Amino acid sequence: MKCKEIEFTSFRNIESEKIEFKDGINVIYGENAQGKTNILEGIYLFARGKSFRAFKDKELINFNSNVGYARMVYESKKGEMELGVEIPKSSQKKFYRNKNKVGKTSEIIGEFRAVLFCPSHLGIIKDSPSVRRKFLDIAISQLRPLYIRMLAKYNAVLENRNAILKMSDEERKAYEGILEVYSEELATLSTDIANMRIEYVKKLDFWVKRYFEEMTDGKELPSITYETNADEADFDSRESLKKKYSDLLKNNIEREIKYGATLYGIHKDDLKIELNGKDARFYSSQGQQRSLALAMKLSEGEISKETSGEYPVFLLDDVLSELDEKRRKYIMSNIKKRQVIITTCESTAFNEVDDVNFVYINNGKLCEAPKTDDEMIENIEE
Ligand code: ATP
Ligand code: MG
Repeated sequence: MKCKEIEFTSFRNIESEKIEFKDGINVIYGENAQGKTNILEGIYLFARGKSFRAFKDKELINFNSNVGYARMVYESKKGEMELGVEIPKSSQKKFYRNKNKVGKTSEIIGEFRAVLFCPSHLGIIKDSPSVRRKFLDIAISQLRPLYIRMLAKYNAVLENRNAILKMSDEERKAYEGILEVYSEELATLSTDIANMRIEYVKKLDFWVKRYFEEMTDGKELPSITYETNADEADFDSRESLKKKYSDLLKNNIEREIKYGATLYGIHKDDLKIELNGKDARFYSSQGQQRSLALAMKLSEGEISKETSGEYPVFLLDDVLSELDEKRRKYIMSNIKKRQVIITTCESTAFNEVDDVNFVYINNGKLCEAPKTDDEMIENIEE
């Protein structure tokens, strides 16, 4: 997968620019607040169907405009494709595939695939379980469209079931039959979603182990497992797992009524991330947590390749500068066979890397790079 070019009009602080990318390593550099992350945000919009950081789509439109546009040309093994998006202030954003309007945003998810790593992803290790579930959900959604539909169904049933659990005893009487139906639906969906997540986590564990083995010369051994209410034996068959979730929902109804919420099912699950047998949340150093998060993201790319036959585009927002030289070098040597788009304030960090395509951005505009001190001295000497 390769992002060949992206063009922005009135997108964030970019008035009008076309940026071309090459195979291998592309480095977008510039000072703080110039529009580096805005470019990655625009590219990732086509992978996920929404921004990774805007709360509302309207935030993406340039302050002086009523509509923003982005258009991207990418190449996959299916050939060259163009995706576009129009973001009007007064209505929903619309996606276009080869200039034809796309019915639903979910239709384009999974077409252009990218893995994003930005500073907030360090939260994968230290933040609450919902962050780790989100990581899994986004990663699996890009590979299995069925997963998005199952998850949306699960969330809808969960919301309805919770509404009944919150009712007064009197009110709830009329809904007892429906409550049972919802419990069964949640048990079935939990079974299928948990199975897909576990299948994914096994692959993730394999790849993260491999990355760490090489990055730390085998000194640090990570382990990633899926944590759920069910025991290992329950996973023997789909029936036994479904029975487990079903029993949990049936046998704890009094407790759930007390809390006014569904307490069992995949919306409560988590990833257990350990380094050398210790919970990474509490015992790993900052650098180790950073390396773990990055290894998980790179593994996401490996799994994507195993499933689809090609690597996704890697988008790294200002993350390598925080790793020590050894780890950084290992990552760089490992990713250069794919297309990577990296943002940084310090282009010198890439001096030793060959064949880098540098893109310099200043105040939302592509510019010629400013001369380095060495180049200025050379000019004077001439
Ligand atoms: P850093 O190195 O600090 O991460 P960056 O180059 O990644 O900086 P971005 O986050 O890409 O910076 O861009 C931030 C700039 O974009 C800010 O100056 C901000 O005011 C501007 N900006 C954000 N949204 C809009 C918008 N809708 N219209 C115009 N400008 C915007
Ligand atoms: Mg930034």
